[in-house]
Amino acid sequence: MIAILVAALAAAITIFRPLDVAVWSLQSKIFDHEPSGEMVFFTDTSSEARRTVVSTNADLLRGVERLEEAGAELIVINTPIQRSADPELDKRLQARLFESRDRIVLARPVRVELEENSDLAQTDPYFEAGMRIASSDFHSDFLGFVWAIEPSHTAGSRVYPSVWSVLANEERATDPIDLNYSIDSSKIRQFDLARFADNETFDTEALRRKKVLIGGLSGNDRAIKVPDGGYSKTPASLAHIVAAETAIRGEGQFVSNSATLAFFGFILLLGIAILRNEKARRYFYALWSALFVATFFLSAMFGVRILMVDAMMISVIFAGLRIAYHFRRRHLFIDPRSKLPNFVALRRDFEDRDDDSFSIVVAKVARLEGVFVSITPAEQGRYLRQVASRLTLGDEGNVVYYDGGKYFAFVLPKAEYPDLQSHLEGLRAVASQAVTVSKRALDVSMTIGADQSVSNRASKRISSAIAAADQAREAYRPVFIISDFEADSETWDYSLQSRLEDALSQNRISIKLQPQIDIKTGMIMGAEALARWVDEERGEIPPSQFIIQCERVGRLDDLTKRILYKSFSASRGLQDAGFNARISVNVSAIQFVDSRIADLIEKTLLKTGADPSQITIEITESARVEDFAAAREIMERIAKTGIKFSIDDFGVASANLDALYHLPFSELKIDRMFVDQVTRSPAARAIVAGLIQLAQDMRITSVAEGIETRETLEKLTEMGCDVAQGYYLARPQALSQIEETLRLQKDSFPGKSEYG
Ligand code: C2E
Ligand code: MG
Ligand code: MG
Repeated sequence: MIAILVAALAAAITIFRPLDVAVWSLQSKIFDHEPSGEMVFFTDTSSEARRTVVSTNADLLRGVERLEEAGAELIVINTPIQRSADPELDKRLQARLFESRDRIVLARPVRVELEENSDLAQTDPYFEAGMRIASSDFHSDFLGFVWAIEPSHTAGSRVYPSVWSVLANEERATDPIDLNYSIDSSKIRQFDLARFADNETFDTEALRRKKVLIGGLSGNDRAIKVPDGGYSKTPASLAHIVAAETAIRGEGQFVSNSATLAFFGFILLLGIAILRNEKARRYFYALWSALFVATFFLSAMFGVRILMVDAMMISVIFAGLRIAYHFRRRHLFIDPRSKLPNFVALRRDFEDRDDDSFSIVVAKVARLEGVFVSITPAEQGRYLRQVASRLTLGDEGNVVYYDGGKYFAFVLPKAEYPDLQSHLEGLRAVASQAVTVSKRALDVSMTIGADQSVSNRASKRISSAIAAADQAREAYRPVFIISDFEADSETWDYSLQSRLEDALSQNRISIKLQPQIDIKTGMIMGAEALARWVDEERGEIPPSQFIIQCERVGRLDDLTKRILYKSFSASRGLQDAGFNARISVNVSAIQFVDSRIADLIEKTLLKTGADPSQITIEITESARVEDFAAAREIMERIAKTGIKFSIDDFGVASANLDALYHLPFSELKIDRMFVDQVTRSPAARAIVAGLIQLAQDMRITSVAEGIETRETLEKLTEMGCDVAQGYYLARPQALSQIEETLRLQKDSFPGKSEYG
């Protein structure tokens, strides 16, 4: 529409008219038509040399006589005849003209009111009396070209036929004729009147039954330009002859620029409206453009003058707009750093897809800024592309979108991945391996969110997949999938939410203690405090669920406060009972952003009177530390009390070397994923052995958690692990139960005062 409107505007102000001239000239040159030969042009240029009316009139008289003798069918005199100094000659000329008035027509400009005609000489009324008068008027454009001539002109109340319509015997024509300049005007025979009049040897046979036009630039025949004639000045009479030739050929129709604009514009709009497919449209554009070429040649061939430049401008403007659109699209939809399509492109590609055959998956990469500070932008791009290519593992053709920040997104067909959860967990495990860029290994830690609901629009599902990736937690629930039944339970979640709040305020969140065993001695050396919440309706809710919930609603501090109090109190209780056992408490890394956690720990120590040297803080989700310097400062402040730190779930994406390197840990807890596989997988065995070695080299304690079998424990013993924890040894239990076990242990090993 824009292209058509702009082209229409251009047409209205005729800005491209010179191009139309050029096109029509070009068309005139492609086809070259011979004139019919029925018309002959006599110029009276020689009279210029003599310059007297007497000699002109004498030539004219003689010329007319000879033309009649030669058998000319019609003589149109388009030159002003004036009275000369020889009344006798004038009388003879007048008599001769009058006598042949059937065959002779006098032509002159009739619209004398036109300024351009005002200074032209006119034929004396003396000669005009009783004669037929034709109009030699025409209209030229601002460049001096004559494109069309009216069939007649009116002056006063009289209608004068145009010279061309007289010549072509078309005096009743009503439509202007458009000159077909492919008729070669240079092949219209031309003779000099004066010379003809004097030359007795002229072969007059060539003039038999011909129509003769006498004119020329010395008279009132104004100069025009003919596109075909090298753009030189030509007497306007020639235009009348070309017009007459055109009329004889039955040509000279004209199609206005508004008609072509409407035609081509309509076809374009129609095509775009019907064809939705990009490829089909491309064929259509080609066909549509071919239509211009066809019009160009056919109109030239049939002498129809079609003003098509304005319509062609539609295609130029349209092409320009398309190019601008594609250019913008290319830059608008591509992330400049990674060269991956961005989320604008994701929305564009899936916004209109309302089918629910696919799941939208979003991977959120943690601490990207930390990775990026140390590498160049080009390396950042490579890093991002490597992460993206890992996300397509198993489905290499799949497109991965990157939002320019932390999020990657892609789409998986539901039919191919019936168990999306386990597929994404596997994918995450692979994608979380360190990436090598410029020979440096860089961490990747990510959580994955997916939306596989059926009810929502794609745009909403994209947002919900992002939210899911945000809600996923490396330690608790690294892959978080939103589906319809979960959407149903949103209301349930709200009620759970309020019940959680109640549980917190009523202090109903308790702890259980899971014993930890010193492998060398086989004695209980301490216990890990694990949060427990038993809801009246839903029973025991795993901490992995309600801790996320607490974080989401800003109640994590509150929860930590209560757990710390209970754990420290338990520690104090064991101390008071005379046992020498450490207590480990879990605190999420995201709480190490300001000094509140340090204040809280110090206050709780004071309140409970626990011995800080018997307490370990397990930092979970250490990969979520954004600012190591700040976290380190807070930890060092807490460490001054005597409390020690453990890095929890080490080896998986939630805790990695980066954190171990930057922060002051004195214990490393090997993630139970590796521990569990130690008897089965050589790879897990190698990893665990490496981690134990790492702890030894760093002079810190190694702890293996999640030991479920005797074989696993034996293997770890063999490997030199320091501390063991797991269901095989003991389940999480109440404080009273721990106390009892410790008492038994003390009784059977009275000598060992180190523990219990
Ligand atoms: P975690 O700190 O790694 O705790 C160990 C988890 O492994 C506990 O799950 C424990 O019950 C479980 N576990 C122990 N032995 C075995 C075993 O042999 N096999 C298996 N399969 N599992 C075993 P739980 O209690 O569900 O806690 C899950 C996570 O929740 C914890 O992982 C910890 O990250 C977090 N968490 C628990 N309590 C708290 C808390 O008070 N504060 C914070 N911030 N996080 C907590
Ligand atoms: Mg723990
Ligand atoms: Mg753990």
